[in-house]
Amino acid sequence: MLEAAPGVLCMFSLNERVAIVTGGSRGIGRSCAETLAGLGATVVLTYVKGEAAALEAVQAIESKGGRAKALKADVAVSAEMDELVAATTKEFGRLDILVANAGIAIDGLLLRLKDEDLDALVATNLRGTIASARAAVKPMMKARYGRIVFLSSVVGEMGNVGQTAYAATKAGVIGAAKSIAREYASRNVTVNVVAPGFVDTDMTTHMTDAMKTTLLSGIPLGRTGQASEVAAAVAFLVSNEAAYVTGQVLRVNGGLYM
Ligand code: NAP
Repeated sequence: MLEAAPGVLCMFSLNERVAIVTGGSRGIGRSCAETLAGLGATVVLTYVKGEAAALEAVQAIESKGGRAKALKADVAVSAEMDELVAATTKEFGRLDILVANAGIAIDGLLLRLKDEDLDALVATNLRGTIASARAAVKPMMKARYGRIVFLSSVVGEMGNVGQTAYAATKAGVIGAAKSIAREYASRNVTVNVVAPGFVDTDMTTHMTDAMKTTLLSGIPLGRTGQASEVAAAVAFLVSNEAAYVTGQVLRVNGGLYM
């Protein structure tokens, strides 16, 4: 048994695999990067603002004997996704795995929703996810092997007050994943979605105690999730063992939405 990340024991091996994790500098993305590297993959993790955090994530992986590299690449700029994939295949010779994790949250009631916030959410969460897959699928289809995982959210399936735009982008990535899954199945590229519930990261720290109490009352398991619990689901979907799983949504939400 390999230890992928603190607390995650895993049976899967990703030896020889090369992975990109967008937004791998913090939160769920960082945990995915650590978990995949712990399973043997070489991981290129990306960031847009947090260079120091990204370099620290690389150091954490290397200190455990893993291989990782941090690259600045904004998912909202499609050309940067093409450059990211080109740089990865040039340096490491292949690309087997994409975890399209980078995302932002901007909350607000519908009547106060600004067009600029709507556009920013769509550009990063929806267009960015699709653009990263479009870039990654090229070497994967040539190699006739690929594993793509999109990060959606529980609110993409159940909706949430104050999250019209965010939820729309997270619902959108599910439709995109299913379409790409159908398009590239014949090339042995699988595309799946992980839909986390509420996970303790920077994205959820702004919640007030009152919001947390209401939230917890709706979660059958009675607690928020950990990034490593999402990463474990991602690790399964990018493994060889998940070869017959495509176009699926794996919910990691403590039962909040069934
Ligand atoms: P987080 O802690 O806020 O981290 C976000 C990551 O995305 C950071 O590494 C950030 O890089 C990167 N990023 C943001 N905008 C980017 C861009 N334009 N290009 C490239 N990278 C960008 O978020 P998280 O909570 O780990 O969430 C990760 C994913 O899971 C997101 O897609 C989120 O929507 C989804 N999710 C989260 C939760 C939750 O409860 N936390 C629940 C459901 C779904 P910088 O540090 O450089 O800005």
